[in-house]
Formats: sequence, C-alpha cells, structure tokens
Amino acid sequence: MSAALRELHDSLLSEEGGTLATYIPELARVDPALFGLALATLDGRVHAAGDADVPFTLQSISKPFVYARALADLGLEAVLSRVGAEPSGEAFNAISLEPGTGRPSNPMVNAGAILTTSLVSGDGPAARFERIRDTLSAFAGRRLELDEAVLASELETGDRNRALAYLMRNAGALRCEVDEALDVYFRQCALLATAEDVAVMAATLANGGVNPRTKEAVVPGPVAEHVLALMASCGMYDGAGEWLLRVGLPAKSGVSGGIVAVSPGQFGIGLFSPRLDVRGNSVRGVAASRVLAERFQLHLMHYP
Ligand code: GLN
Repeated sequence: MSAALRELHDSLLSEEGGTLATYIPELARVDPALFGLALATLDGRVHAAGDADVPFTLQSISKPFVYARALADLGLEAVLSRVGAEPSGEAFNAISLEPGTGRPSNPMVNAGAILTTSLVSGDGPAARFERIRDTLSAFAGRRLELDEAVLASELETGDRNRALAYLMRNAGALRCEVDEALDVYFRQCALLATAEDVAVMAATLANGGVNPRTKEAVVPGPVAEHVLALMASCGMYDGAGEWLLRVGLPAKSGVSGGIVAVSPGQFGIGLFSPRLDVRGNSVRGVAASRVLAERFQLHLMHYP
C-alpha cells in the first residue's frame, strides 16, 4: 500500500496547476510544492507518502468534526432545526441562508459551520473551543496545536465571515454574540494537523466513531453516519456533485489545501497540497482521490 501511495505521489508531482488561497494572507506564505498523502486502515496502520508529516491548518476540514461534536451534544433533531442538510451548490463563503429564518443550508459551508460551532456545549467561548480542540484531537489520536499566525491573519481579514454571522444573528438564527461565534470558528480553522493526522481522523469516521489507533469511542456510531452523509452531499461545495459522481466518497476540503476522505468500513484518507482549483479544492488532492477511488474501487455506488 505504501508503495502504491508513493507511486501516486510521484506521478502527480508534475501537476502544478492551481493557486494558493490569498484571502487569508498567512496561507499564501506556504510552500506551494508541498504534497502529502496518507491512508489509515481500521487495524490502526498508517501508510504515507511525500509531505504527509508536514502540519497545515485544518480550515474547513474542521467542519465535519465540529458538526460531529454538536450532533453528539444535542442530537440530530435539535441540530437540524438550526442548520439545514441541503447542498447549497454554491461557494464555501456564499450567503446561503433560508429566507426569513436565516437558517444556513448545511454545516459544510462557512455560514453553517459558524452556526454549528455556536451550538457546541461549553461555558463561554474559551471552554467551547477547548471542547472542540479536545474532540478534534481525539479524532486524530494526538493533541492538535494552534497556528497563532494563521489565526491572527484570519482575525484581521475575516470580514466576510463576520458579515455572514451578522446576517444570521439579525435573522435570529445565531443566538450568541457574533464575535464570540467567530472567535471559536477562526480558532478551529487554525488548528494544525498533518495528512497522517487527517487520515486517522477520517478512519475514526470510517470506523463508526472509534479511533482505530487509540480505540477511544470519540462519537457514537450514528453520529459518524450522519456526518458522512453530510460530507457526501455537501463536503466539496459547488464541486460536490461532480465529486460524488467521479470519486464517490464522503469528503471535505479546506482552503489550506487539505482534503479528508472516508471509505466507510475500510479506511480514512488524508491529502495535502496547497494549490487550489477555482472551487477552493486542492488540485493534486482531487486528482489523487480520483486515482485512489478508481484503483481500489472505493466509489460508494460501486457494484462489486
Ligand atoms: N477559515 C476559512 C474561512 O472561513 C475556511 C474556509 C475553507 O477552508 N474553505 O474562510
């Protein structure tokens, strides 16, 4: 398996298409040539190739895991009444809110993620963030650190997300202070993980919520199932439909160039390469996923 990953890694090194995200200036300082792939199996082994041990900020990859925390805290019905489950078909930072109520369309776009973060139990923003960090760390099987420079950069430039939060607050959808919700959201986005960590986080979802390395039951099985459903329908933003068609796996991308993908009951995949396509998905990450899905017949709708 490791040899297959190395071969895939090498075959995609010549792919230099795409551009770094610049709207968070600190992200534009990352080495664009980085490329790491990792695959974690449910017996606890991790196979890796390239820069799979280089940390990057999770950004939107945090969203499904925070959604898992909120579902485990409040239950599906309570969460669904506040954040929808419909693909928006729009960009990650779109204003996709239900007319009148301000309820965001799904937890994988920014508006829905900011609201989801506000639902996590905790006495104040600091406690809520620590619970989120603990949860994401439990998914990864090690304590995840915060990138203070990326956090500061996003705090300075995150006005679009602030605008989304104000719209939701004005409509009554967001029920805490805007700054409080955003502070926690920006922090979760600035948590650092490697492609290997992301593969283990994915494998935990593939394994019904139990981390295959630490054996910790991080979230209940039905929560993992619901998170995977949302990743399958909404995880790749306006590229979600074509992704499901071609790759056929629940996945989530982030603007730092990471992708988390899950083959339920089989394994977790973590990919990292910072150059992005127009939809904000890693160019090499998408290409590698397509090859992996085809080669190992991972498509969920595959007829054996
Ligand atoms: N922190 C980023 C933002 O809110 C995350 C977006 C992403 O990764 N697509 O804009």
